[in-house]
Amino acid sequence: MPAKTFYLETFGCQMNAHDSEKVSGTLLEKGYTRVETPEEAGLVLYNTCSIRDKAEQKVYHRLQQFRREAGRGKIFGVLGCVAQQEGEKIFERAPHVSLVAGSASYTRLPEMLVELEAGSRRVTGLSLETEETFDTPFARRDNPHRAYITIIEGCDKSCSYCVVPFTRGPERSRSSASVLEEAARLAASGYTDLQLLGQNVNSYRDPSPAGWDFATLLARVAETPGIRRVRFTTSHPRDFVKAIVEAIDDHPVLCDHVHLPVQSGSDRVLERMQRLYTRSEYMCRIEWMKNARRSLAITTDIIVGFPGETGEDFEQTLALLDEVEYDSLFSFKYSPRPNTAAMAMADPVPEEEKTARLATLVEKQRAIQMRKNSALVGSVQEVMVEGRNQAGQWIGRTSQNRVLNFMGGSPAMGAYLPVRVMRAGPNSLAGEAT
Ligand code: SAM
Ligand code: SF4
Repeated sequence: MPAKTFYLETFGCQMNAHDSEKVSGTLLEKGYTRVETPEEAGLVLYNTCSIRDKAEQKVYHRLQQFRREAGRGKIFGVLGCVAQQEGEKIFERAPHVSLVAGSASYTRLPEMLVELEAGSRRVTGLSLETEETFDTPFARRDNPHRAYITIIEGCDKSCSYCVVPFTRGPERSRSSASVLEEAARLAASGYTDLQLLGQNVNSYRDPSPAGWDFATLLARVAETPGIRRVRFTTSHPRDFVKAIVEAIDDHPVLCDHVHLPVQSGSDRVLERMQRLYTRSEYMCRIEWMKNARRSLAITTDIIVGFPGETGEDFEQTLALLDEVEYDSLFSFKYSPRPNTAAMAMADPVPEEEKTARLATLVEKQRAIQMRKNSALVGSVQEVMVEGRNQAGQWIGRTSQNRVLNFMGGSPAMGAYLPVRVMRAGPNSLAGEAT
């Protein structure tokens, strides 16, 4: 087996993607080398997602693929949400796994590596009792221009469908000084685009005496010299205050985009989901954003087929789409998750009905996006250049988080430039450098 080499595959959300950057950085710092395939690696790690059942099953499938390799000295580890949720049961289901650790234990990663290197075959990091956040100076970032910064870990809400409070533990905010120091360090090494991360960034509360709230932190990060764009995700409508929109008004560096997951347009369903807001309270936040000085793109998450969701409830979600006119949305079929309150709820929606509702929702949203994107034809948008596609166009991203592919010029990666929109599709725009 090759000495001190690792392969790391990531499933799930941006929090997981950034955790993987931190895990990679820590391993590289400990003398490991990253390789591109599990076959080449001495240590194979999967950073897992358990938000829906499908995501969880993928991991077991991966583990089965390489079962025989374990006998040849390869070490397997399961990190992240499935690790936290399933714990030591993973050792029974996949006996070739030697490490099972949830994200709240990553501060102990160096010690866990020492145990593995010493030959231990049952290493666990499953405690959720931590006050700490996994701040590491060693994060190995995957993108040279856009960087994630974690500002808060865990979640103190109890949405009745969601495993996150069980897999990521209680909320822990990072000190504002540490966040600002990381932003300044990233700017000094050439990053211009920052994304602040947390399951619920709006409930950020600076643990240091300064005691800043999220809107204050956001404004201060936006003032970092050299930073051109700042985004944040995810917001919870209950904790989304007007001061956040005011900070966006005052700081053009804060992107023209807010992701505000609604989950359902029906008050009855929102209550059963324990989301802690009503449709009209949610719409009040949308009004603040619609009245902002710049035109803000608004995106959301929606779950269809929550237990007890009637046809009438679903109609209310469709009507909400017309009312808000989201710029984009992520939609999911409800998936029952272990430990959650919704597991015990009666009146499940049949799978075929969930599939039909999802298709109706996607089709409606597609028409809204087509209409909204078409309205941008003829306008000039500033993009950050992210790469080149197979058709030979440059891939750009606007402040509103739209993909704008374009021809013309020979821009450097990470450059900002104006592009005229010539054509629109439901999911992207096409244009020419001006
Ligand atoms: N903290 C964020 C929030 O409050 O919206 C994101 C949580 S989760 C990583 C992202 C999305 O997954 C949620 O907004 C929700 O729409 C969806 N989701 C969570 N649990 C789900 C479940 N059991 N079934 C289907 N979708 C789910
Ligand atoms: Fe899950 Fe709700 Fe917390 Fe988001 S706010 S992570 S949906 S419990």
